[in-house]
Amino acid sequence: MNFSLFKLHPQIAAGVKALGYHTPTPIQLQAIPPVMQGLDVMGLAQTGTGKTAAFVLPILERLLSGPRGKVRALIIAPTRELAEQIHAAIGELGRGTQVRSVTIYGGVSVNPQVQKLRAGVEIVVACPGRLLDHINQKKIDLKHLEVLVLDEADRMLDMGFYDDIAEIVASTPATRQTLLFSATFPEAIEQIGASMQRKPSRVSVAATHTSTKIEQLFYEVSGNGKRLAALVALLGHYHPASCVIFCNTKQQCREIVATLQGKGYSALALHGDLEQRDRDQVLVRFSNKSCSILVATDVAARGIDIPGISHVINFDAPRQAED
Ligand code: AMP
Repeated sequence: MNFSLFKLHPQIAAGVKALGYHTPTPIQLQAIPPVMQGLDVMGLAQTGTGKTAAFVLPILERLLSGPRGKVRALIIAPTRELAEQIHAAIGELGRGTQVRSVTIYGGVSVNPQVQKLRAGVEIVVACPGRLLDHINQKKIDLKHLEVLVLDEADRMLDMGFYDDIAEIVASTPATRQTLLFSATFPEAIEQIGASMQRKPSRVSVAATHTSTKIEQLFYEVSGNGKRLAALVALLGHYHPASCVIFCNTKQQCREIVATLQGKGYSALALHGDLEQRDRDQVLVRFSNKSCSILVATDVAARGIDIPGISHVINFDAPRQAED
């Protein structure tokens, strides 16, 4: 089974080939055909399943014909990092198409975003809050929107974006195609789907990491001080090449980083209090391996795709199993 199955335009097939994708993943096999037919799709899929290409490829295919310079596809994602990652995937898969995308999120200056919108784009990848600002200030025109994607929908609900999303959706044409991807399907997601989609095709894939060879270990440690000592001991034992440590609070992040830096580790913190510039910088340094330990709150729990991570340590048990 390979990508020729989908009869992608040669310009898009070239992007797939350049990325080295040979076989479609299960979510791509299930979702691409109905999305290409223009149907609404509700997909149960986690990060790592290849869901980004499952919606990006059909969107690129659609945008090859029809007008340029109008916002015809809108992808809404919970975090700026995920938005940047989707934007990068569009750039890579669509390298031969001249389709333009822009990211819109808060924490950075509005002007470059407005300038790019004015210059003309076909795809907008956005986080809800800033997008709504642009809509309210009439800086973005969604009249021509054909496809709306809600990515990591459950996460967006958890982050309190429901009202913003409802308002954004209300400003898009009712004729749009609506795709919704979520790692879980609580009742609230079902309701969102029912209110925003028309007879969606349902596709779902099991989490890939349940079937992989990741070794999982559980250490029972009581008390914060002891946990820090246990963490230091584990790092000394495993010498991870590239490690993410998750904890539940920003304060905890800062404490762990201070402790690890004090022991000579190259550790950096990633949490919501940092300026966007600093968050980007931290991710670049972690990705290019100039920092070996990333200590993060759940801003990084989903949607971040960094190759070569050898160890993940949950310093705190995550609040939700999917995280
Ligand atoms: P996603 O779940 O969309 O974040 O994708 C996870 C990772 O899988 C990304 O690094 C993608 O580039 C990669 N990927 C997506 N589809 C395929 C495919 N068909 N073959 C190989 N890698 C893929």
